Amino acid sequence: MRTGGSLPARPRRAVGVAIVHALPGRYRLADPRLRRAPERAEAARLALLGVPGVTQASASAVTGTALVRCAASVTASRLRAVLGAALGDPPRARSLSAAARAQPCEEPHAWHAMPAEAAAAALGCAPKRGLPPAEAAARLAAGGPNLLARTEGRSATAIFAEQLTSVPVALLGASAVVSIATGGLADAVAIGAVVLLNAGIATATERSAERTIRGLSEVTPAPVPAMRGGKRMLLPVAALVPGDLILLEPGILVPADARLIAATDLTVNESALTGESLPVTKDAAARVPVEAPLGERHGMVFRGTGVTGGSGLAIVTATGAATEIGRIQALLGAVRPPQTPIERQLGEVGRELMLVNGVICAAVGGIGLLRGQPWPEMLRSAISLAVAAVPEGLPAVATTTLALGIQDMRHRQILVRRLDAVETLGAVEVVCLDKTGTLTANRMATAALHLDGTLLAPAMFAGAHRGVAAALLETATLCSDVEEAADGLAGSPTETALVRAAQELGLDLARLRACWPREKAVSRAEGRKRMTTLHRGRGGALLAMKGDPAEVLALCTKRLTMSGEATLDAKAREAIMAANDRMAGQALRVLGVARRQGGGDPQDEEGLTWLGLAGLADPLRPGAAAAIHALHVAGIRTMMITGDQSATAYAIAKELGLPRDGEVRVLEAGALRDLPPEALAALAPQADVFARVSPSNKLQIVRALQASGRIVAMTGDGINDGPALRAAEIGIAMGGAGTDVAREVADIVLATDDLGGLIDAIELGRATYANIRKVLRYLVGTNASETMVMLGAAIVGLPAPLTPMQLLWLNLVSDPLPALALGLEAPEPDVLEQLPHDPRAPILSPTDFRRLLREGAVIGGAALASTFGAPPAATFHGLTLAQLAHAFLCRSETHGLFDRDGPPMNARLVGAIGICLALQAAAQGVGPLRRLLGLGPLGPAGFAATAATALVPLAVNGIISAASQRRRQQERPNA
Ligand code: ADP
Ligand code: MG
Repeated sequence: MRTGGSLPARPRRAVGVAIVHALPGRYRLADPRLRRAPERAEAARLALLGVPGVTQASASAVTGTALVRCAASVTASRLRAVLGAALGDPPRARSLSAAARAQPCEEPHAWHAMPAEAAAAALGCAPKRGLPPAEAAARLAAGGPNLLARTEGRSATAIFAEQLTSVPVALLGASAVVSIATGGLADAVAIGAVVLLNAGIATATERSAERTIRGLSEVTPAPVPAMRGGKRMLLPVAALVPGDLILLEPGILVPADARLIAATDLTVNESALTGESLPVTKDAAARVPVEAPLGERHGMVFRGTGVTGGSGLAIVTATGAATEIGRIQALLGAVRPPQTPIERQLGEVGRELMLVNGVICAAVGGIGLLRGQPWPEMLRSAISLAVAAVPEGLPAVATTTLALGIQDMRHRQILVRRLDAVETLGAVEVVCLDKTGTLTANRMATAALHLDGTLLAPAMFAGAHRGVAAALLETATLCSDVEEAADGLAGSPTETALVRAAQELGLDLARLRACWPREKAVSRAEGRKRMTTLHRGRGGALLAMKGDPAEVLALCTKRLTMSGEATLDAKAREAIMAANDRMAGQALRVLGVARRQGGGDPQDEEGLTWLGLAGLADPLRPGAAAAIHALHVAGIRTMMITGDQSATAYAIAKELGLPRDGEVRVLEAGALRDLPPEALAALAPQADVFARVSPSNKLQIVRALQASGRIVAMTGDGINDGPALRAAEIGIAMGGAGTDVAREVADIVLATDDLGGLIDAIELGRATYANIRKVLRYLVGTNASETMVMLGAAIVGLPAPLTPMQLLWLNLVSDPLPALALGLEAPEPDVLEQLPHDPRAPILSPTDFRRLLREGAVIGGAALASTFGAPPAATFHGLTLAQLAHAFLCRSETHGLFDRDGPPMNARLVGAIGICLALQAAAQGVGPLRRLLGLGPLGPAGFAATAATALVPLAVNGIISAASQRRRQQERPNA
């Protein structure tokens, strides 16, 4: 992509943009160049959205028109010019300098090494007004939208081809060749049909899985604040072009690479790009050598990083694939996503089974030969047995089932961003929960003030202590970023709570701000739990401070009483801290407020006058306590993480029922800092609550829990939570309140702030894992039964009980449909009452394998027994039906077939079995099929034998597994 760049030469056309109709605030424009050019139409739409005052725009490549809704101030000629520019009209002379026009940007500029002004000039951006909309439109047409490349999925033909090159297919091919060589042309044709049918089914399921997976990482970013034509507006991220002026505010995700031209206390979290977990301070004046690494380019901001504090103004230098993160993606683009742990495990299981089966097949063939059977027949049996017994596509089973799980979650408003997140969800052992906003509603209210030794409820703020109360609330209001918005107050809940209390006392926010204009501010930061602002008004200078009570109090030397200022002696300090503890013990967030009249530098925060304590109440989110309880029942530890002090955290934990055994263990994060990692790993898992946590502590806590061997999920509201969310096995961004930053790094995005979504996600994660186990139990068990029949017969010296064609049929009829349906089982009612699976152990334990083989042996044994006396067709039908019946047993590991509280009915499974039964009836009833399969007549005795062969194994296996169900309920599923 070009950085700005020359416009492509397009022939000038006689027909240009026409206005089809114009109503105030609504225009329809037409241009033939839009026709049959969807990409140009999209560029036109984005360009029109970039005109200040435009609220909606659409452009159609079918009709060749564009529809715009806008403010009355937007003129038709302006829209015409912009649309024309977007469609390649040569630029008219515009206000840009010649230097800006030229932009010979074939090779990337070293924007970070230039002064900001030079960069602005080179990019043709007026540092106050931003780009004119028409110029932006032209650049968009030339350089393309600001989008990152999407990874291409495999095509249907590629997937199909992959199916045809698998080992089972190669075996089938060999078997077909042998058939033809020995005169069995019909067999060869049938084998070909089986191969194609199987590959077709597999392609269809894998393709839909792939579509789901490709959609995973897509989160539409929110529009970003920018300047165009001298007006501030919200621009879609895709509409940004080099030279655009963007505004940086806390919580936004930087939408493109950009050169800073102004920055005030701007800090950015660049962990996505550099791995550095602490925010980096940016500086518009910074110029670094051309070869400086990304992490040191302090005059630049980069796409994909998050603004954590302060504000800034920057000029876009690169968009889309030309951004640093775009280039990294381009490097990674060709790489297929790594297999998830389950996919890897299943691949391994498949290979092992293949090996074992190979040996068995060779044995069957060898024994047959030794007994003097003709070798072509033995060869064919051995190969067909191999085909039938190899559970093909085991990794695909995992992929498909995981993808189905993801779709299920999407229906419940849970957005999963990585395939392996589904299986990890099922294994979560610890959930770290943000207190504010996740467990509490983050709707704060000032519930108490402590002034001059007295604790006051809101009704008493206007009483005798009014003077001190007003001083406190006034100071807190000045020391805040709250703004008046159309629908009340806009700002953080903590600050709005204080300002609202001030307003209720009759203070006028606008007047107060006008009297005391803010000159400087120092915000909260890592290791600094207070905010300070410096104001200068007619009455001189004023330093206002609010924050953690202990921190603020330590900087005070005087205190305000009802009768004026007094010294702050040790006794008064003690009384204040005692009041703080009492308020915190009532689950209030407590802030200390202080001021210094007469100014000075806010860096120099000393000699302040203590005004008092403010206690803010934040109601628990309805359902939070229930959600915590549900997590505990599910065998998952919960940990609450908060920046508040221990006493507040303790009180809220009590209300939530956070401890499992009645005793809340609170750990102060400050104590963690100096601990060696091993001590931390031993200590962290003991805690129920982490108090006074800073963003970098969060990362430390996640790491410590992981070091102790636990699978950790972590919720976050974003701005500074990025590194911790990324480090946790499962990072969860909570719905409405979450920032773009959080959404970008999270593995799971919940649509609502409701913790119920998290429980749902864990339930579905576990159910998906259980479903993969169910499919495995079915596939491995039934395939084993076929091997056992053939091996048993060979050992005993019987003729082969099943013909190659019958084995193929068995595999085609009894394997795929029920397996797919088992992968779609709804969660069992008690998944959330069991323990999470052990992520460190394989999905099938040795015990599991023994069980699967035993179940296969029972089914195979019954089929083998039926060969004594019953007509040969009964063995074939009996074995098929026994396998289908086995599918029902595979539905639950903890409940028997007839348990009332067993899994809910699965209509898909019933349907799948129905289809299989119909096919099986056709095998006997339709002449050509019957001949192909070499089936003789069945007769009443045959019916009876078939029924017995089908049902006896079900009963036997059912009884055996019932014996172990109780125990399984109390163990990890894969123990
Ligand atoms: P949490 O992670 O639980 O939301 P925060 O990090 O937001 O906690 O806040 C932690 C502490 O920082 C609070 O207990 C309070 O002492 C202080 N604090 C919070 N908001 C402000 C603010 N706007 N101004 C000053 N101090 C604040
Ligand atoms: Mg917070």
